[in-house]
Amino acid sequence: MTERIPLAVPNIGARESELVRDAVDSGFVSSVGHYVADFERAFAEKVGAKHAVACASGTAALHVAMRMVGIRPGDEVAVSDFTFMASSNAASYQFADLLLVDSRADTWGMDLDLLEVELERRSRGGERLPKAIEIVHILGQPADAARAVALGETYGIPVIEDAAEALGAVYTDGPAAGRHVGTVGLMGAFSFNGNKIMTTGGGGMLTTDDDELAARAKHLTTQARLPDRGYLHDEVGFNYRLTNVAAALGVAQLERLDEFVARKREIAQRYTDAFADTAITPPPQVPGTESTFWLYSVLVPDRGRDDESARDELQDFLGVAGIDSRALWRPLHLQPPLKNERVLGGAVGEDVFRRGLSLPCSTTLTDAEQERVIGRVLEWLDRPGD
Ligand SMILES: *Cc1c(COP(=O)(O)O)cnc(C)c1O
Repeated sequence: MTERIPLAVPNIGARESELVRDAVDSGFVSSVGHYVADFERAFAEKVGAKHAVACASGTAALHVAMRMVGIRPGDEVAVSDFTFMASSNAASYQFADLLLVDSRADTWGMDLDLLEVELERRSRGGERLPKAIEIVHILGQPADAARAVALGETYGIPVIEDAAEALGAVYTDGPAAGRHVGTVGLMGAFSFNGNKIMTTGGGGMLTTDDDELAARAKHLTTQARLPDRGYLHDEVGFNYRLTNVAAALGVAQLERLDEFVARKREIAQRYTDAFADTAITPPPQVPGTESTFWLYSVLVPDRGRDDESARDELQDFLGVAGIDSRALWRPLHLQPPLKNERVLGGAVGEDVFRRGLSLPCSTTLTDAEQERVIGRVLEWLDRPGD
């Protein structure tokens, strides 16, 4: 029996065990203990943000960001349509209306031309504008944060970056050259869920260069409790803190982030080379950016069909050979709870959903395993379609 090849599993080593054990042995397993502050400091330094505030999840970080830019019931938030639903849930928790903006076919990131035309049109007609723009760095590929910020500045709209999938991705050219994703807009949100490039079991981080926002985020994530002998709270806060045990895991994982990113890029390059000259479309590689290829995802040829069946067929074909793969996200405008939200475009996200498939790309994937995946994909491509 050959071993099953998983899609993407955490890479936990001896250092992780050491620090988690230390946190447990210290007795400070919950909200007190030095690992949370250590993790925040190291993280801020790693991505080049002035502040980083640890949160219970990436979704929690996004929610706090929405709350801090003042999203209230009935306000509108512009968000990428092609993303995991957590991106928009954060706005929905504030009872916001959504303006779902399609992706560009060449980047899979938000199509800012579409948004710009809409903002211009509304501004001319005196119609209301979104209160926030949330771009998403999808699958490790940086979206055009600098342009989103410039557009936001024109209309007075803050930009929040959902960088949950793209820790370690950077801009190498253009106005944001040298910056990490999540540090260009007003705030950035990261996730340390088990399937992300590094994990704390579950957790998130909010980054910002703004001193007041950072202090307020800490306050809001800790039940908005004031330093007072009695229990005094100046607003309705959240229990969104990260535990000391989780932060200890985070400190150890962060030390290995460069190693993880390098390995993800190596895996991506091997796949992309192997699929050159085939009908497989590799993931976007946008000039002036360095993706982490968090989940290496391709577009599968549809074999002349207009549904997801070719992608499903390849997924099943891999599955029989013991290889895990995963479909990409159904665009938000097709999610039942969001069916009444406004949408700009939508066809690009639908196509990426219909044909998109993520292939095994754990940082622990061996070359031999990757060759097995490649061989099986090429075999499927050689089979006649029906
Ligand atoms: C994982 C993810 C989130 C949410 O992160 P959690 O830590 O799981 O709450 C948000 N947005 C995107 C795009 C994600 O992939």
